[in-house]
Amino acid sequence: MDIKTTIQTIPNFPKQGIMFRDITTLIENPTAFSYVINQLKEKTTNLNITKIAGIESRGFIFGAALAKDLNLPFILIRKKGKLPAETFSEEYELEYGTDCVEIHKSSLNQEDQVLIIDDLIATGGTALAACKLVEKTGAKVASCSFVVNLPDLKGASRIVDYNPSWLVEFEGD
Ligand code: AMP
Repeated sequence: MDIKTTIQTIPNFPKQGIMFRDITTLIENPTAFSYVINQLKEKTTNLNITKIAGIESRGFIFGAALAKDLNLPFILIRKKGKLPAETFSEEYELEYGTDCVEIHKSSLNQEDQVLIIDDLIATGGTALAACKLVEKTGAKVASCSFVVNLPDLKGASRIVDYNPSWLVEFEGD
């Protein structure tokens, strides 16, 4: 199945010059959504993953469905100030300013082999911060999976140490 055709592109969102690759149309299509979850599942073979961590917010959609399919615990990586219990935090640079992701301290331990999921990797800043955040808990990042990679932004090269993979690519940013 060609899932690229189920992802719509919105030019100049959220600002001028950005081609927004929108997965809302993918998840509105049950056949495409199931196909994506199965493809992500295949990539987990032989990784001995113990938990799946999704990055807010579209990473929750794919991560939760995959975790349910694999019968594994699903962990939230959220933007600062959203998680109620004790957290670890990791700041990262944006084009203008910084952002921060958090995880519950009790969610992971040093026995865990974690698969991190997001819908898309662009510059890789968010994914790299998520990997470092998982490591703060003592857990190991077994792999990072994305539905979409934007190769021109070279994000995947920033997380080569964390075994990145993706299902489709869009040239241009
Ligand atoms: P980055 O940290 O630059 O890799 O950005 C990744 C995050 O921003 C992901 O959570 C994506 O959902 C979102 N994102 C960045 N660029 C795009 C884009 N062109 N289209 C859709 N989502 C994007």
